[in-house]
Amino acid sequence: MDFLSYVAGLTKRKPEILKQVKDVAEKTKTVEGLEEAMSKMSSSLVSAIREGKINSSEFFRSIADQLLIGSLAAVHLGSKGSKPDQTVEAEFPYAVTRLQPLSKFYVDFLHFQNSDNFEEEEWGGTSINADDEYYGMDEDGFGSEGDDPSAPPASWGGVEQRVNRYLTTPVYGWYNRGEMRKNSRLGYKEMRRVTRKDKRVCPDCVSYEQQGWKPIGSLPSPGVECRCYDRCRCFIEYR
Ligand SMILES: [Zn+2]
Ligand SMILES: [Zn+2]
Repeated sequence: MDFLSYVAGLTKRKPEILKQVKDVAEKTKTVEGLEEAMSKMSSSLVSAIREGKINSSEFFRSIADQLLIGSLAAVHLGSKGSKPDQTVEAEFPYAVTRLQPLSKFYVDFLHFQNSDNFEEEEWGGTSINADDEYYGMDEDGFGSEGDDPSAPPASWGGVEQRVNRYLTTPVYGWYNRGEMRKNSRLGYKEMRRVTRKDKRVCPDCVSYEQQGWKPIGSLPSPGVECRCYDRCRCFIEYR
């Protein structure tokens, strides 16, 4: 898969993708429903390539498509019926830029696929649970294995974990972006990040919280630009 030509092809495919975004949002109904659907999608994509039903190029094309569709479906849900189509259109270009980390994962994955000396682990297919906020977490609370999205996968379990991180993790951050655009339309001017104030809160989130009230749109969504990734439990207040 050539990443640049994939991205270039998105302009032409945009109407078809926007239709799928709407379908997924209407079918999953809530951000929790979407999260579950994305987690299932991750597992089935990894099973498909593992069983040889798709090749690595098709695998990555599907991950990229699903990441785009899932992210924008979350935006749709976050805007809660207040001009969702317009909100999704506005977020489309940014969602495309967020596909970029997949190109490195593709290289890592090919490396993993071509290495014949990796430890094959017991394959349960459902051992990774993205809902478990403790998974992969060490004593410091910042996670150990699987926390660093730049580390190459060493097993099929690691591959599934990575795919899950790409597809499932961003759902809440995107939901927040949809909600933020809606609140901006409703006349709210400022936002602030609020952490859970316990020792599992990461330093990035603490620094966002310390900034207090900021103009709407100027602070990142929880889970997007913080080292706690999908374990981010921050929320946003508006005024
Ligand atoms: Zn954090
Ligand atoms: Zn956080």
